[in-house]
Amino acid sequence: MNGNSPTDGATGLVPITIARGDGIGPEIMEATLAILEAAKARLDITEIEIGEAMFNKGFAAGIAPESWDVLRKNKVFLKAPITTPQGGGFKSLNVTVRKGLGLYSNVRPCVSYHPFVTTRHPDMDVVIIRENEEDLYAGIEYRQTDDVYQCLKLISRPGCERIVRYAFEYARANHRKKVTAFVKDNIMKITDGIFHQVFDEVAADYPDIEADHLIVDIGAARIADTPEMFDVIVTLNLYGDIISDIAAQITGSVGLAGSANIGDQSAMFEAIHGSAPPIAGKGIANPSGLLLASVMMLIHIGQPDVAENIHNAWLTAIERGYHTGDIFDRKHSKQRCTTKEFTQAVIDCLGEKPEQMTPVTYSPKETDRNQSGIRLTVPEPAKKDLVGVDVFIDNRDLTTEELAEKLKETGGEVMNLQVISNRGTKVWPDGLPETFCSDHWRCRYAGKNNAIVSHGDVIELLKRIDATGLDFIKTEHLYDFDGRPGYSAAQGS
Ligand code: NAD
Repeated sequence: MNGNSPTDGATGLVPITIARGDGIGPEIMEATLAILEAAKARLDITEIEIGEAMFNKGFAAGIAPESWDVLRKNKVFLKAPITTPQGGGFKSLNVTVRKGLGLYSNVRPCVSYHPFVTTRHPDMDVVIIRENEEDLYAGIEYRQTDDVYQCLKLISRPGCERIVRYAFEYARANHRKKVTAFVKDNIMKITDGIFHQVFDEVAADYPDIEADHLIVDIGAARIADTPEMFDVIVTLNLYGDIISDIAAQITGSVGLAGSANIGDQSAMFEAIHGSAPPIAGKGIANPSGLLLASVMMLIHIGQPDVAENIHNAWLTAIERGYHTGDIFDRKHSKQRCTTKEFTQAVIDCLGEKPEQMTPVTYSPKETDRNQSGIRLTVPEPAKKDLVGVDVFIDNRDLTTEELAEKLKETGGEVMNLQVISNRGTKVWPDGLPETFCSDHWRCRYAGKNNAIVSHGDVIELLKRIDATGLDFIKTEHLYDFDGRPGYSAAQGS
């Protein structure tokens, strides 16, 4: 039993919250609950309503305020997929719940069930651990000019350390041998760079586990081609989202994979797929993703006996050829099952173990070790010096040379105009005529003779730029941290 999930002392039941969601959500939740009940999971279930119905009632986050109290009290949430309305100012409820409850780690096992589920990758058994709160999912976006739109990618050192330590702890607890980091730090040297740096630091604390890293593009290609080379993968939020769908799909169906979202206080368990509107209400959805998520939930709340029974029954049903349409094929399937027929097949297999696939075993010890109290290192704060400022200007009338001419003297006594770039590429001085320029110009000012500058200097600079009549739309301060630049150079400079 972990420290997070209270048990009702009198009944021995663990309180959990469930939501049936949208699309195929209600069908796969009904299937999952039927199997949990048949396996005698010791649960005290409270249901909340989320998703489309709540969006339609005017709750922009898709959840009523009082439901947060239930989620925070029960701490364990089994959630069916929901439909996120497109545009219109609606926020993704999934992201809101993950971030609201501090569920920083998203764990997505992707396993192939060869030869019973058709796949080109018979030996695939990979767990993708995705950072769940940061990255481009910060949801901070702006339109800055007629031409240019911006999304902020925010990565924190503690965020990196927490997820990387979680991945190594997970590997140890689950007898995994290798953790691979996926990053793109050849391009995003600062944001992905800190993730890579922290990965190398943390890996040194786990000499029993092999550590390596790949650039995410070739990593994704290798997942699609030779997934058996991976064991545990840890990565940033967006990369993790994309590669875990690829990984789940190539096991046979996106409908097969469950996931856990783990935080220090609470946890949420869900299928990795969405609400699949085209097949909603037809009674043909594969409930396996949500069911396997519920197995992860049972391990989390300290019921490994029930988890093991359900997982082995599920493997047995798959092995015997009871398959929903998404994984049906004439060679290996005995019956093309509806959701209800598949549910009954799993229930009928409770107490049995697969004969050809390896049965799972879950021990209480493993359960305990899954709940790692992650302790973060607290580095000494760096010495931070303001050495310049990037001023972004909205301009579609002036040429590059005209813009530079207008700005040249605005640095005053203290700063120099050093470089102008457009969409990250240097265009002044010595730009190339071929470089396409949008209306979004980054003008970099640095302290003269590498001098440190002040906030007052920046304010005076902006006043001088304002006096030229140019439209400045934002600024970014340039800091050195312990003498090392905390900003990227313009491409080509
Ligand atoms: P999807 O995962 O719903 O569907 C992708 C494809 O997989 C479809 O062909 C679908 O029919 C099939 N599929 C998915 N689950 C299946 C299952 N259990 N059994 C059989 N086939 C299955 O992805 P989408 O179409 O991009 O998204 C639909 C909606 O779901 C969107 O509104 C999206 O925002 C939402 N969504 C929600 C979650 C979540 O709640 N966690 C996750 C992803 C997408």
